[in-house]
Amino acid sequence: MNQPARLLAPLDDASAVLRHVFGFESFRGMQAEIIEHVIEGFDGLVLMPTGGGKSLCYQIPALCREGMGVVISPLIALMRDQVEALRQLGVRAAMLNSSLESSEAADVLRTVRQNKLDLLYMAPERLLTNGTLELLQRCHLSLFAIDEAHCVSQWGHDFRPEYLQLALLKEYFPDVPRLALTATADAPTQNEIVDKLHLQNGRVFVTSFDRPNIFYGCAAKNNSRAQLLRFLSNHAGASGIVYCLSRAKVEETTAWLCAKGFKAFPYHAGLSHAARAAHQDVFLKEDGVLMVATIAFGMGIDKPDVRFVVHMDLPKSLEAYYQETGRAGRDGLPAETLLLYGSSDVAKLRNMIESSEADDKRKLLEHRKLDALVGFVSSARCRRQVLLSYFGQPLDKACGHCDSCCHPIESFDGTLAAQQALSCAYRTGQRFGAAYLTDVLIGASSPRLQSFGHHLLPVFGIGKDFSKKEWRDIFRQLVVHGLLLVDMEGHGGLRLGDEALVRPVLRGEKPVMLRKDVHKALREEKAKKTRAAKTDAFENQEEEELFQKLRALRLDLAKKQNVPPYVIFHDSTLMAMAKARPQNLQSLALISGIGEAKLARYGALFLNALCES
Ligand code: ADP
Ligand code: ZN
Repeated sequence: MNQPARLLAPLDDASAVLRHVFGFESFRGMQAEIIEHVIEGFDGLVLMPTGGGKSLCYQIPALCREGMGVVISPLIALMRDQVEALRQLGVRAAMLNSSLESSEAADVLRTVRQNKLDLLYMAPERLLTNGTLELLQRCHLSLFAIDEAHCVSQWGHDFRPEYLQLALLKEYFPDVPRLALTATADAPTQNEIVDKLHLQNGRVFVTSFDRPNIFYGCAAKNNSRAQLLRFLSNHAGASGIVYCLSRAKVEETTAWLCAKGFKAFPYHAGLSHAARAAHQDVFLKEDGVLMVATIAFGMGIDKPDVRFVVHMDLPKSLEAYYQETGRAGRDGLPAETLLLYGSSDVAKLRNMIESSEADDKRKLLEHRKLDALVGFVSSARCRRQVLLSYFGQPLDKACGHCDSCCHPIESFDGTLAAQQALSCAYRTGQRFGAAYLTDVLIGASSPRLQSFGHHLLPVFGIGKDFSKKEWRDIFRQLVVHGLLLVDMEGHGGLRLGDEALVRPVLRGEKPVMLRKDVHKALREEKAKKTRAAKTDAFENQEEEELFQKLRALRLDLAKKQNVPPYVIFHDSTLMAMAKARPQNLQSLALISGIGEAKLARYGALFLNALCES
């Protein structure tokens, strides 16, 4: 009732912190609302895409409220990065996890007891030890932030049992606001988080999941290494991730890329912990490194300047795809993705689901998720429209920034072709592969074919309207649509898919629309366009050279401190410097991403480089 009047409204405080500490001019999207809510002491759940700016949602309230903020994060690499980035901003941050020596951990605990920290990062298992809980109960806490909150979901691929125990926080710390954050969007996960973390009284903030700076592209595999090379040639000198389905493929692809002169490193669960950490470190600290990885890589990597993500094989679901591609372009600058898919990928993934330990209900769910992904790659619609409607946020208009929008795929009514292909597979006993079936359809006279007597079948020679290459493409698409299934145990023979799918097609009750494949010429035209767009970022050569010079200075400073370059300044900040060419500290301070601590620490050095040129 008779509360002392605050000198400033919470948002004024928060805006001041945003400007002075982080060097940013204004809040993005729902940040202001979320921050105000937490400063007022309420709980919440934030659903925001990767790169949306989740960290500020708890970092700023932690600086505005009294006491220390505790951030729970599942991954050590991420913690280390965030703590380093905060220290660069002059914020008193530290972490507690298993990577610290015991003397280092003791130092951190001492600063906690002395109330000398603004933010403390820790892994959930650390938090839940008795010693830590007791210590925190004696401290004055400003908030709990539970990052990667979807780890609480038993259905998700990142499930971590320790996360379930975070429900205790409400009991132990009833007066400390809790903010859970995740980039996973689907409604069941959202409900599970609220339920398991006891956030029923909190507010749920759902922001747009669109990532406008990401260009989405998919292509059928057609010499995938050549496709990869062509893609990489548009991204020379940039950092990127190349995902493969298996460890063996990661190793082969890495070796091949290295032989082609790329700085590429493997990352998968079969490597030693030390090797993985070392490869990740190079990726974070050097420019232009390719990380070739299974899905084991990426969660908790918040490198902002990943310029591209390539999938050499189909990911497992649209959620996984969106999360993996979401690692590109966190800094908001243009980024590109490419997904290469083949019909055998679908078969492999189906097989993996079937042979897993999961119960039938779970398997069905996984199959459905895969169906949605297959629908996405084989659709001729705007990629972003398909993605966002899957996440429950349909877009009215096509985005204009994906392969379907930029190079509309011609589709054709392939119902007759599908019927011919399906009956050909059926009449030859559902055991031959696409090449053999094509021979039957186009009426080729091979001795093998004759020995089976297949030249006598009514389907022999009925498919002469299409070439061999076109039939190969049609078969691939029929597999992608689930109308044909690849027999993985045998020799890749094709059999009919689920009756509910196949029957209406055979009866002519359901048309089958097929994509005409993207032609080489189109791909090359696009390559040129992307290149053009890339140089457009700078007005002229001079600007670009200055940008490179600033990057070199940054790399030098980063190496001296053994930190990733982006914790010093982001590319976007360097780009803005190269464009505006400030000649004194006051004008340098106006550039986005330069707060007071960084101005004091690096201002003169960068100014020097700017004035020299
Ligand atoms: P997330 O955790 O949601 O993936 P981050 O918190 O890492 O995203 O933020 C992504 C990037 O956007 C970071 O580089 C961050 O500095 C920048 N950023 C966040 N909020 C703002 C803002 N209000 N103004 C300018 N840049 C911002
Ligand atoms: Zn589009």
